[in-house]
Amino acid sequence: MSSIKHTVVIVGYGGMGSYHTQLIKESDRVIVSGAFDLLEERRALAAEAGYTAYSSYEEVLADPEVDIILIATPNDVHKDIAVRAFQAGKHVVCEKPVAMSSAEFTEMQAAADAAGRVLIVHQNRRWDEDFRVIKEMYEKETIGSLFQLESRVHGANGIPGDWRHVKAQGGGMLLDWGVHLLDQLLFMIDSKVTSVSSSLSYILGNDVDDGFEASLQFENGIKAIVEVGTTNFITLPRWYVKGLEGTAIIEDWSLRGRIVTRNNASEKIEPTPIRAGVGLTKTMAPPSEGSTITGDLPAASELSSSFYDNLAAVIEGTAEPIVKNAEVLRVLILIEAIFEAAEKNETIKNFDIYGA
Ligand code: NAD
Repeated sequence: MSSIKHTVVIVGYGGMGSYHTQLIKESDRVIVSGAFDLLEERRALAAEAGYTAYSSYEEVLADPEVDIILIATPNDVHKDIAVRAFQAGKHVVCEKPVAMSSAEFTEMQAAADAAGRVLIVHQNRRWDEDFRVIKEMYEKETIGSLFQLESRVHGANGIPGDWRHVKAQGGGMLLDWGVHLLDQLLFMIDSKVTSVSSSLSYILGNDVDDGFEASLQFENGIKAIVEVGTTNFITLPRWYVKGLEGTAIIEDWSLRGRIVTRNNASEKIEPTPIRAGVGLTKTMAPPSEGSTITGDLPAASELSSSFYDNLAAVIEGTAEPIVKNAEVLRVLILIEAIFEAAEKNETIKNFDIYGA
């Protein structure tokens, strides 16, 4: 493994920009040397933390010691900052959503290609443990072949911050959290999305969505329901997943959860009818004793390296990116289909560029 350290300057030293300094400390391949933010007070914080606080973006681009520009600004300015970085010969790590549209992202990619530089999008939630547990179940068929996945994140705090409320700055929850949940699904499920339907919510009265529900049908038969809510005072589980042999649930980020599978060793015993409400039911009665087994969630599947170690290897030409730009583009096109489905109240088909 190469011992060269790659030098990063963070552009947009806000919540996520400053958090990257902690993430980068976990890698011995990349170091943060400085930061630039439009706001004086954010530049002062970067200087206090021991980084070079550049007074302009031009000054960052002119510094030959800087290899990588890390873009952690609001979404509407990602493209321009990235294109200028490539023109100055820098590599770029860009926060998600990488751009306001698939067309913008295509321009960024073209600028990277023209300069022969690396563009990698920080789709960090591919490394989330809850997702990697689901990925393990999908790949190993722990509860049989999966046919329905429900992926949700719920909060009760509304849309955070300032620019996330503004459409022109790329606000709204579909772009903010949706891009993570959709990226996870497309990364895991090796199949084309054949149709999508959706609805966006505007309960809080912003001009951007404060949440959404989308239903995705994949060619291999899997259905996925994706939901983001910011007005949920009681939350539904992070994951609810059905396979041909069982059901799995992951309640929360601390990975509370379980799997319940059919007990193939037990004789089939009909469930005993129960009183449900004012009625009687056998269909909805609990499975008969011994007919199911409750177990722990499996250990998470591993990715080949951390985000930043992978970045260094990609720059050195020794590894493929874990977050590939063709995958990022596919997610942006899916997001556009979800917006269109909600706006027209129609099911959208024939948009997915899977395999292209
Ligand atoms: P923020 O508002 O906390 O920080 C943005 C910073 O960018 C601010 O300090 C602002 O002054 C600065 N800025 C704005 N325009 C600029 C420009 N042209 N040049 C330099 N600085 C500029 O926002 P945030 O929550 O940190 O989000 C920033 C980006 O990170 C967004 O793209 C967001 O979607 C992404 N993000 C990703 C994750 C993740 O888990 N991957 C989490 C949070 C945010």
